[in-house]
Amino acid sequence: MTVLSPARKAHSTLYHLEPIGVGTPDVESLTGYISRLAKAHCLPVQPLVSEIIAPELGMTSMVRSYSRFFKESACSVNGLGQYAEDFHSAMERLTLRGDLSRLTMLPWKGVFDPGGKGLNKPLKSWCSSCFREWFKNGALLYEPLIWTLSSVRICGRHGSPLRTTCPGCGEPQPVLGRTYPIGYCSSCGEQLWSKEDEKVEGEEHVTEWDLWVVTEVGRLLSASPSESGMATQKRFQSAVADVVRHLKVTNTQELDRSIGFGESTITQWRRGRGKPRFDYFLLFCFKTNIVPKDMLCRSSEEFLRNSWRPGCKEKISRKKESHKQEELRKRVKKEMETLLSTENAPSLKEFARNLGVGLGYLRYRFPKESKRIASRYRERLRESKESLFHERSEAIRKAVDDLRGAGEHPSKWKVFRKIPGILPGGGKDKDLTRVWKETLEGKHIVGDPSGC
Ligand SMILES: [Zn+2]
Ligand SMILES: [Zn+2]
Repeated sequence: MTVLSPARKAHSTLYHLEPIGVGTPDVESLTGYISRLAKAHCLPVQPLVSEIIAPELGMTSMVRSYSRFFKESACSVNGLGQYAEDFHSAMERLTLRGDLSRLTMLPWKGVFDPGGKGLNKPLKSWCSSCFREWFKNGALLYEPLIWTLSSVRICGRHGSPLRTTCPGCGEPQPVLGRTYPIGYCSSCGEQLWSKEDEKVEGEEHVTEWDLWVVTEVGRLLSASPSESGMATQKRFQSAVADVVRHLKVTNTQELDRSIGFGESTITQWRRGRGKPRFDYFLLFCFKTNIVPKDMLCRSSEEFLRNSWRPGCKEKISRKKESHKQEELRKRVKKEMETLLSTENAPSLKEFARNLGVGLGYLRYRFPKESKRIASRYRERLRESKESLFHERSEAIRKAVDDLRGAGEHPSKWKVFRKIPGILPGGGKDKDLTRVWKETLEGKHIVGDPSGC
């Protein structure tokens, strides 16, 4: 073991590596933890899985087809079904840790569909800004559990859409890469944050739903074991009944329809027939303005306080954003005001990049200010183009005079080679060519390129 290696507890087979962010919205995923553990042991992921984890699991089906495991099943390691159960307990035995279930959705297995429908993404997604920031600051690259959930499309820290393909080769990425470490493409090895992605994905519309999901899922992931321990199917069943009663719903099929469910989803939840899908549960809470964590970990009917019937939003005051989103919003607003009070006129893209947020976020949250910044930038471009034109026109006139004074013919080639930043011959710049011609003809030119 090198000096920098993590500790190996007495008799633990693998390092007793501490997981990142337990108890916070940014808690690490179990697949990400496995990748980091492989790196700590100076191993690619595949041999760690095949030589150490698989024998511990006794999973003969996995041993038969690793390629299928890495391609299809690895995403379930972060879920709440059998795969997650087996993997987390094997990893806890190998590392002698007791907190690895919190890197999966297992704390919520009492409530949600164990089949994992609508829970984990089949492929990896990531926030380039987070990777870039950590890399720049010399921090560890890791993969938060929240990125692996199907309903989450944006980064909670940056508000920008998560990426799903390599910026180098365009390939989608498996949830658990076999060889390359976290942050690198499994196909070409490129850094997954290597290119600015605002143009590719920042243009995507970030919706109120996206912002709500990332905030509320973050709250669930930061729940303590005693909080998530309160989430049982029985409590959920009675919470659904409370919602129906509180909203004075007489026909649950109507409520189903207004949320966008099939006809008997809510009835089945209320009767305790089967567990809800995670994504359906989130949609139910969003449409009824209920905080998911309050509904699952409730000890009273307090969670109903701000609830409303889908479609009746305006009657009830809007729920407050989470503290984190609010802080981000405040910070961005202040930066925008400061910028607009100065002469500085960067492009909106450059401004978003400096703030570490997506273009989509700025346009969605601050449409007026974003438009002003963009139009100031366009104005600045126009002005600098104009002043450059005037500068070059003057230089052309001077060059013509100088050449004539030296007894030379002021050909286009001779004149333009004296103008900095212009190709000899003038390239294809019609306006400057016009200036040259008119100077030869003795005409005096005033005004901008358009001739106004
Ligand atoms: Zn981010
Ligand atoms: Zn690639």
